[in-house]
Amino acid sequence: MTFSSLMLNQQLLDNINQLGYQSPTPIQAQTIPEILAHHDVMAGAQTGTGKTAAFSLPILHHLLEQAPQDKPQPQALILVPTRELAEQVHANIASYCVNTPIKTAMVYGGVSISAQVTRLKTGVDLIVATPGRLLDHLRHRVINLKHVQYLVFDEADRMLDMGFMDEIKAILKLLPKARQTLLFSATFNDTLFNLSKRLLNQPKLIEVDQRNTAAADIEQLFYAVDTNKKSALIAHLIKHKPIEQTLIFSRTKQGADEIAKQLQQAQINAKAFHSDYSQAVRASLLDEFKQGKIQALVATDVAARGIDIKALNYVINYELPFVCEDYIHRIGRTGRAGNKGTAITLFSNDDARLLESLEVLLDKRLPQQWYPGFEPDLSLFEETPRRNKKGAQKQRARQRALQASKRK
Ligand code: AMP
Repeated sequence: MTFSSLMLNQQLLDNINQLGYQSPTPIQAQTIPEILAHHDVMAGAQTGTGKTAAFSLPILHHLLEQAPQDKPQPQALILVPTRELAEQVHANIASYCVNTPIKTAMVYGGVSISAQVTRLKTGVDLIVATPGRLLDHLRHRVINLKHVQYLVFDEADRMLDMGFMDEIKAILKLLPKARQTLLFSATFNDTLFNLSKRLLNQPKLIEVDQRNTAAADIEQLFYAVDTNKKSALIAHLIKHKPIEQTLIFSRTKQGADEIAKQLQQAQINAKAFHSDYSQAVRASLLDEFKQGKIQALVATDVAARGIDIKALNYVINYELPFVCEDYIHRIGRTGRAGNKGTAITLFSNDDARLLESLEVLLDKRLPQQWYPGFEPDLSLFEETPRRNKKGAQKQRARQRALQASKRK
């Protein structure tokens, strides 16, 4: 399939051609025609699959069909969970809008509100926003959403995880009922299904990757290693694999600081990346990482959302995340848009239960390996980590039955 067979506006086609996109990714090939045909869409797609273009290109196509106005009112609203994702999505959309009259704005918290107010007051067609700051602007009557025809939830699962339900409800009250709604999520759970029932009107269900499974082109390695040897193993992997650049995940900010410090001591150019840093510092860290000046960025889950680095071949999980779905998000940082990626997860005795839950979620056994020279001290692995193998199998079977009944 080619982009031109999707009958998109010529300027959009020229712009994506300029960006080097040769053909639509699977999610784009499936969603773009449905959105162009004005259907609501519920799509299961991980970051890195090309989902931003999947929802934004057809919306931009529709916007371009309408007569441009000097002071447009927002017609498209894209809700995202974090400022990093807002920046990422907005940057992508801005690159698709080159040489078109479409005006866009970005709205998120943690930065001065006045520049956003100035931009919004000039009139914009499309807004990429995090829910909290958008509500601030609505309460101050800087904008209204009466003309919104297209509403997108990007990374909806993450938005709910972050507790944005109340903000979402408040925003929905201010939107016209007659609109097209698109919901994109890497994972689906009961809360999200319930929300989707209220939000979407006879949606087309599109799934490129099987729900709750990790992208197929990501190699997943699990190394059993004692906690006190984890940083040394990461340093060893970076030097000997060798890993040119990697994103390392830590459950906590303190952990991220500590890991970065230990890697620095091993002469690796590592930096921590989390919400204690100001927006400006985070932006400049990301820039340095993108330019290859930082070799290892050690991030917390929340901070890492929206990081989009094309050439990232490795992610490392210092430990398993507490929320299993975060594992899928974490490893989705690599293997993007068809590139090969490797996700390395370090696993210690404390993580046994989490590994079991992850196996249930992915419906897959996750074999562990020992890395030569970093073998775990077996006296610490007192109980066999997956002592509950039978229990986990039963739980997996139950999960499968539940998913199957939901699809019916
Ligand atoms: P996303 O899943 O939206 O975060 O996109 C991941 C990356 O894939 C972004 O850097 C996009 O610029 C890139 N991308 C999106 N669509 C295509 C395509 N059809 N061909 C090549 N790269 C793409």
